[in-house]
Amino acid sequence: MVPNRTCALCHTSKPILRRPKTGQQLCKPCFFYVFETEVHETIIGTNLFQQGEKVAIGASGGKDSTVLAHVLTVLNERYGYGLQLHLLSIDEGITGYRDDSLKSVKRNQQEYGLPLKILGYDELYGWTMDRVVEQIGRKNNCTFCGVFRRQALDRGAASLDADHIVTGHNADDTAETVLMNILRGDIARLGRCTAICTKGEDSIKRSKPFKYAYEKEIVMYAYFKKLDYFSTECLYAPDAYRGHARVFLKDLEAARPSAIIDIIHSGEAFQVAQDVELKPQQFCQRCGYMASNELCKACTLLESLEKGMGKLAVGDRNRRKLDDEPMPQGMRTIPMFQRSATTDSASPL
Ligand code: SF4
Ligand SMILES: [Zn+2]
Ligand SMILES: [Zn+2]
Repeated sequence: MVPNRTCALCHTSKPILRRPKTGQQLCKPCFFYVFETEVHETIIGTNLFQQGEKVAIGASGGKDSTVLAHVLTVLNERYGYGLQLHLLSIDEGITGYRDDSLKSVKRNQQEYGLPLKILGYDELYGWTMDRVVEQIGRKNNCTFCGVFRRQALDRGAASLDADHIVTGHNADDTAETVLMNILRGDIARLGRCTAICTKGEDSIKRSKPFKYAYEKEIVMYAYFKKLDYFSTECLYAPDAYRGHARVFLKDLEAARPSAIIDIIHSGEAFQVAQDVELKPQQFCQRCGYMASNELCKACTLLESLEKGMGKLAVGDRNRRKLDDEPMPQGMRTIPMFQRSATTDSASPL
């Protein structure tokens, strides 16, 4: 294709990039504006925030959450959302990985002037992921990590008195999840994995303002804005299954860039029958967190670790019950326990 001489939007400046989502050749300011405006339209179109809400941004130091913190700060000011933004980081206790990425979060905290809370698995659970991996090895470690993180984010947000948790999950993550749920025939999760906001009884709202933002555009935004983020993958990242979905999605995207959005829209269009009776909400007898059994998922896993039987807690039978909500950019995936249709209050991110 012959390069355009001028930006496809302003028709005056020289284009410096081709937009992955649409193929348009744009100048830098137009790309920033169109990217930010699309996120704003998603927020407004889904009525995501209420004026005055306290919002905890799940900040990992990776590019998704770094761009999210930046864009929400910009939009909050530009459009007067009236949000009180906080950064909330979870330290899984992975030496050489999370300790470095938290340094990026701390630099961003200075830059945006946002309050930051860091909560560690160590202080919450008495276990770091380094110790979990020491016991169970590198298989299924993300299951432990995902269950712990979900609860840690809830606890961190509750301690901030936050109304809302936002995470940097992007369009690629969502499309991969749709594909995986189709391949597994997991209808219950397919029905809710495209929801931009989930909220269960007694739980804090969680949402994904980047649900329609392409990963490639997030990378471009971070690059051209010169944002400070950490891009190394977690040392313990496995998850071949999502890896297959990711490769497949990238192939589809190369053939037709709209494939990502098309898959999300297909996922949204599924009508899933709500014919499963809901179980009453319980609270964990050990820690008080919401649970569908006597113990919550985290305490069930902690008990198995304490008994030195962590490996058995996530055997193949339980593996079927894992959730595969991905970790925001820069990391890999966060498989979590499946919330069965009877425990919607603990639905995935
Ligand atoms: S890849 Fe993510 S979920 Fe898995 S161990 Fe690392 S930080 Fe935890
Ligand atoms: Zn322009
Ligand atoms: Zn518990």
